[in-house]
Amino acid sequence: MFTIGLTGGIGSGKSTVAKMFADAGFPVVDADQVARDNMAPGSPVLAEVARVFGEDLIGAGGELDRAELARRAFASEEQTRKLNEITHPAIRRESDRRFAQLEQRGVKAAVYDMPLLVELGLNEEMDLTVVVDVAAEERVRRLVEHRGLDEGDARNRIARQAGDEERRARADIVIDNNGSLEELRARVEGVVDKIEKML
Ligand code: ATP
Repeated sequence: MFTIGLTGGIGSGKSTVAKMFADAGFPVVDADQVARDNMAPGSPVLAEVARVFGEDLIGAGGELDRAELARRAFASEEQTRKLNEITHPAIRRESDRRFAQLEQRGVKAAVYDMPLLVELGLNEEMDLTVVVDVAAEERVRRLVEHRGLDEGDARNRIARQAGDEERRARADIVIDNNGSLEELRARVEGVVDKIEKML
């Protein structure tokens, strides 16, 4: 099965592009969704997170207080590392399992929508790496306008990720999303045509 890694900075339009790929017939494994599924009530990953970060993070219904976990885990680099050591291998295992299932179903090409693809070096394992690229200022604007983040939070989150330069350097294909959604759609269609020729 041909694997397409899809990444980009926060607010660059990854989910929008992933949806366009899905509409074009490529199944998508969404790493953020995998991360959420892994922390479902009763899951072993959630139990481990609670053991390390506090049992009080789990509510009466077994659900995780995400905002409080984020506060504790992003309080220092050391705490962030501890959380990543629990979650990253689990995300990887579950993503691999979902890809294996798609392959078994006879899927020819599938997309891995993964914000940290480059940071974790997973681009090396993909047949093709596609980066959605948008100027950081425009990403801040979209995050504030569409997501309701405050500007400082948007800037902090951008600062914590790999730089745009590095991401672009790892890309086989860069999709420019500084323009309109219509322009984006046309660009994605062009990329889909290219990929179909590779299969
Ligand atoms: P995150 O990293 O937070 O998951 P993302 O990279 O998946 O973000 P999207 O959710 O696809 O990004 O896009 C961020 C916001 O910007 C969304 O509200 C989306 O509708 C909007 N958006 C994406 N592309 C464009 C565009 N070309 N013009 C205007 N708005 C856009």
